[in-house]
Amino acid sequence: MATVKVSRDTRATYDVERVRADFPILRRRVYGKPLVYLDNAATSQKPDAVIDAMDHVYRETNANIHRGVYLMSEETTALYEDARAKIASLINAPDPAACIMVRNATEAMNIVAYSWARRNLKSGDLIVGTILEHHSNLVPWQQFAKQIGARYEVVDIDDDYRLRRDQFEALLAKKPKFVALTHVSNGIGTINPVAELTAQAKAAGATVLIDGAQAVPHMSVDVQAIGCDFYAFSGHKMIGPTGSGALWGRRELLESMPPFLYGGDMIRRVTLKDTEYNELPWKFEAGTSDYVAAIGLGAAVDYLRRIGLDAIHQHERELTVYALERFDELKGVRTFGTRELSSRAGIVSFEVEGIHPHDLATLIDREGVCVRAGHHCNQPLMDRLDVPATTRASIYLYNTPAEIDALIAAVRKAQQVFA
Ligand code: PLP
Repeated sequence: MATVKVSRDTRATYDVERVRADFPILRRRVYGKPLVYLDNAATSQKPDAVIDAMDHVYRETNANIHRGVYLMSEETTALYEDARAKIASLINAPDPAACIMVRNATEAMNIVAYSWARRNLKSGDLIVGTILEHHSNLVPWQQFAKQIGARYEVVDIDDDYRLRRDQFEALLAKKPKFVALTHVSNGIGTINPVAELTAQAKAAGATVLIDGAQAVPHMSVDVQAIGCDFYAFSGHKMIGPTGSGALWGRRELLESMPPFLYGGDMIRRVTLKDTEYNELPWKFEAGTSDYVAAIGLGAAVDYLRRIGLDAIHQHERELTVYALERFDELKGVRTFGTRELSSRAGIVSFEVEGIHPHDLATLIDREGVCVRAGHHCNQPLMDRLDVPATTRASIYLYNTPAEIDALIAAVRKAQQVFA
């Protein structure tokens, strides 16, 4: 495989130590060693700005949103709706009202499966996915297809771990009604050319959902430029709180869809005979929202924008190159994923000859380094790669070359233990 080289010019301007100082958890030690957190694809750490924003709500303004006519409720409602506007603006959504606040990307994609697909797909229709999908953008479609007698078919990857465009085009020729596609693979870090794929899918007449759970935290995303119909992501992977996330959808689609959950807040008028639903976005936000988490996510968006998504992406890219170079020095180690940098996010899945990923991750942990071992909610992808599991290091804005060195040293040590 070709070795990748990138310019390291931005290192001088990206002050990673300053970023790190904002994340209190990075000061802790584990087993007496400095914490090296490289499990960012699973969840990310939180800066003071996010923790403080949530703390402020609980200490100063907390009151249920939308319902109160008193000051504190109005303040909290304003913070919540302000967070929505920030989140919508981050992905260049044309209309904040078409940005539904959800608990996570899984919920967002299930809304599309339950509310859009049940209305619009029928027996015999084709749904297209990819082998790269996280289970949360695969199982809903696979199971939904079974329930209604539709077909679910997936696009494979090539030898360079990228989607097979020939296969995608062949599936589009069968006129699928729906395409569910990840922006970035959480298993092997492939970045899909979602704008091109969406344009092709739309030209074939399909409605397109993009899973942006591994993209929005790490790069500039513009849903209008992508041209998709739905875009989903989680807040906790982008330095925001757990219990936060968003589904953006085209207004006309969301308006035509029935609610996902029924109850309070999603109604305009209820009689014993019938219910008139609320307008967007509240039609899809039944019950008390996790408004504190959403406000925390708004603070996360401010923080990410202050650093700059392009700068974060470049920082991660440089670290990924460095990590791959360091992994290449190791004997008996195989990394998965393309070496074509423009198609590669900061996720390095690897296997070490003779050591099960779980044993490896446990030994690595003893060195203070957090990585994930398992199938990463990508079982069909693991089957495709012909491995039961991988060990995965995933990089974010606060990681450093020294932390990559710590990971490599920990892998070497594990190899010695097993030798
Ligand atoms: N999609 C991708 C690509 C992911 O990596 C994940 C989580 O790892 C999800 C969806 C699901 O995210 P959540 O568990 O926050 O719903």
